[in-house]
Amino acid sequence: MQLVTVGTVAFDRIETPFGKADKVVGGAATYISLASSFFLDKLGLVSVVGDDFPKDMMDLLRGRGVDLAGLEVLQGKESFFWAGRYHYDMNSRDTLETRLNVLLDLDPKLPEHFKAAPYVLLGNLDPKVQAKVLDQVTDPALVVMDTMNFWMDSALEDLKKVIARVDILCVNDAEARQLSGEHSLVKAANKILAMGPKYLVVKKGEHGALLFSEDRVFFAPALPLEDIIDPTGAGDTFAGGFIGYLARTQDHSFDNLKRAIIVGSALASFCCEKFGVERLLQITREDIDHRVQQFIDLVDFDIELVED
Ligand code: AMP
Repeated sequence: MQLVTVGTVAFDRIETPFGKADKVVGGAATYISLASSFFLDKLGLVSVVGDDFPKDMMDLLRGRGVDLAGLEVLQGKESFFWAGRYHYDMNSRDTLETRLNVLLDLDPKLPEHFKAAPYVLLGNLDPKVQAKVLDQVTDPALVVMDTMNFWMDSALEDLKKVIARVDILCVNDAEARQLSGEHSLVKAANKILAMGPKYLVVKKGEHGALLFSEDRVFFAPALPLEDIIDPTGAGDTFAGGFIGYLARTQDHSFDNLKRAIIVGSALASFCCEKFGVERLLQITREDIDHRVQQFIDLVDFDIELVED
């Protein structure tokens, strides 16, 4: 097993100013697994669904190397459901509905063959559940964690305990500010890194992402897209591409993290081009390589500083 991911596997209802999707397959672990499957072939997914979750989607995940031995299917129960509406700028959204359903019963038990996974991705979930996964992995080389404002409001102490145990935390800019109590993202990063992680990734939607270590910062742009259809799952897709690339290259240097950020951003840009996971199911490694090149071209410039 190269990577173990815990997170939601869900149905989403999505409304954007340009269209809507009634009931599409989503969930953080779905996006993460699909994105990382472009780089890895032994992936473990830990989650829970109801018996309403489509079997063909499970087959599709299996076909991409995702081992579902850690996905519990609860008979007679419904899968996690989330509904959201995006604002005109698409960088912000309102949650219209969250039905936890089977998530209330999620008590993650890692199958034996998941426990020695060198890479672990803790998707956005109750920090107590994230901690239970960490308790069961034997000696991971790298742990990446995602979270959201909801847990900062409702379970801050548990959240801080998990943050102290991970190598890389991924949050968006508003969450970095909330978690640190600092408006400046530089000050926020310093405070968050002091909580334990070695690196912090701050996602800024269509304005790119920042990577902070104790003494270095890197900025990756987002690709200007002609049409953004649905940003749902972009953050998770980013995280999946990011950790997938790191697990494939097994190099955790700052310079390689920079490459991983670009790969994650490239994958996230695809995710936004259609509703749900649809676009991720269409693309190939070649498409990803081509898009990474577009990122390189986007920020490539030459300058000779003029002397006085
Ligand atoms: P993202 O757009 O990357 O933040 O992630 C969107 C995905 O997160 C959707 O597919 C939802 O099913 C899932 N999601 C929404 N709310 C929650 C929540 N409270 N906990 C866990 N997953 C969630």
